[in-house]
Amino acid sequence: MTTQFEPVIGLEIHVQLASKTKLFCSCPNGVGDETKPNTAICPRCTGQPGVLPVLTEGAVELAVKAGLALGCQVNEYSTFSRKHYFYPDLPKGYQITQYDKPINGAGSIEITFGPKENLQKKNIGIHHAHLEEDASKSSHFDGYSLIDFNRSGCPLLEIVSMPDLRSPDEAYAYLTEIKRLMKWVDASNCDMEKGELRVDVNVSLRPVGQEKFGTRCEIKNLNSFKAVKDALHYEITRQTELLNAGGHVVQETRLWDKEKNITRPMRSKEDALDYRYFPEPDLPPLVLKHDWLERVKVQMPELPAQKEAKFMAAGLNAYDAGVLTSSLDIARYFEEVTANKAISVKTASNWIQTDLLGMLNAEKKEIAQSPISAPVLAEILEMVESGKITRRQGREVFDKIWANGGSPKAIVEASGMVQVSDEGQLEAWAQEAIAAAPKAVADYKKGNKAAIGALVGAVMRKSKGKANPALLSKTLARLLDK
Ligand code: ADP
Ligand code: MG
Ligand code: ZN
Repeated sequence: MTTQFEPVIGLEIHVQLASKTKLFCSCPNGVGDETKPNTAICPRCTGQPGVLPVLTEGAVELAVKAGLALGCQVNEYSTFSRKHYFYPDLPKGYQITQYDKPINGAGSIEITFGPKENLQKKNIGIHHAHLEEDASKSSHFDGYSLIDFNRSGCPLLEIVSMPDLRSPDEAYAYLTEIKRLMKWVDASNCDMEKGELRVDVNVSLRPVGQEKFGTRCEIKNLNSFKAVKDALHYEITRQTELLNAGGHVVQETRLWDKEKNITRPMRSKEDALDYRYFPEPDLPPLVLKHDWLERVKVQMPELPAQKEAKFMAAGLNAYDAGVLTSSLDIARYFEEVTANKAISVKTASNWIQTDLLGMLNAEKKEIAQSPISAPVLAEILEMVESGKITRRQGREVFDKIWANGGSPKAIVEASGMVQVSDEGQLEAWAQEAIAAAPKAVADYKKGNKAAIGALVGAVMRKSKGKANPALLSKTLARLLDK
């Protein structure tokens, strides 16, 4: 008999903080350009004998902002420790990290997952989030290796979740939310191609109904959301088969082989003891001054959850509110457009999601680089909402400005775009269309109401898209139902 198992998942995420300098020296942070190896280095971040670390304020501030976004208890008192291991990319032989007293204590975030029509929400606990320095980067070639120290000493925030996730989809949603929050408060750019967000996945199984957790494996250093999902699926299947065959999961660290789509054992799990953690003697405890902390808190933007709630109160559904808060820039754009009360939130939401984000995605642009600013879109939408121009004409104006710039009102005037709402004119066009399409008329009279579409289309072509669609449909129906 096979047992039903439930996965238990916890993630450790490293995000590179977007501060100007490294964590313990004034070298520039984030010089990842492979054509410029070892250009952003100094005696401190290359671990020369006799140098001392000096904590930089920028990274601390971003760590606090990140902690506040994660709902963490920010600790006014935290400390640094040394974590020892030997590797050529770690010249000091230890990494400076936070161990027993991290800057951010427990917190929690809400994730959203499941199908669009039936979104589910769940709270996931954050165990803590601590500061640490990054190691350098080695590249291995045939017979030799090269080391680039540009990354050495760059500031990382390690965000450790509680084992609250129960499926690969929940893990994916958690990652999405962490990335949204970190970018929202400008703590990190989270560019995964540049290695600015790296994930270690912990996963175990337990029989459904059992409270006690099973033995876990840790899969290290995943650098895409897809790899996280794929590795979890693989590992859940592997552990299920192992347990059902009467075997035991060995606690170990595994690697994801993305060519073969499998995980492979790397080493047996190391213990805290193996790292010989001890307090960093060269750094005093990090004490956040109360006034400083208050200043950082005051500068925090409204968080996505609050914005989503506001947007839903204004009439959007959960899915639309989620899309329009996928970044702070998008949310602000939406707010700017809907500040014009002549525009409904639904209209603004449709245009931003379909037209604006559609074009931006197609051209791989961020909203900050949009050729159509929020006031310009608002001007177009105001004309559409008031019936001055049709939606289709609105889109034409949008496309013209996208390509060549200009003002919506001027374009509408210059191209003679107006919507025809004149009853007499609409009726004349309608009668012409009815006379030209006896088959559609007969179908309609037999009860096929959709046949009216052909007549609407004919008038639209005749009027070059200028006929007011709502009034036209009414006029046609009136004439046909006579
Ligand atoms: P370590 O210090 O060895 O890395 P932690 O106890 O700090 O271990 O946990 C690391 C991560 O593993 C956390 O995200 C936690 O939620 C997760 N985790 C702990 N126990 C389990 C388990 N039995 N199954 C799955 N994940 C777990
Ligand atoms: Mg770990
Ligand atoms: Zn340096």
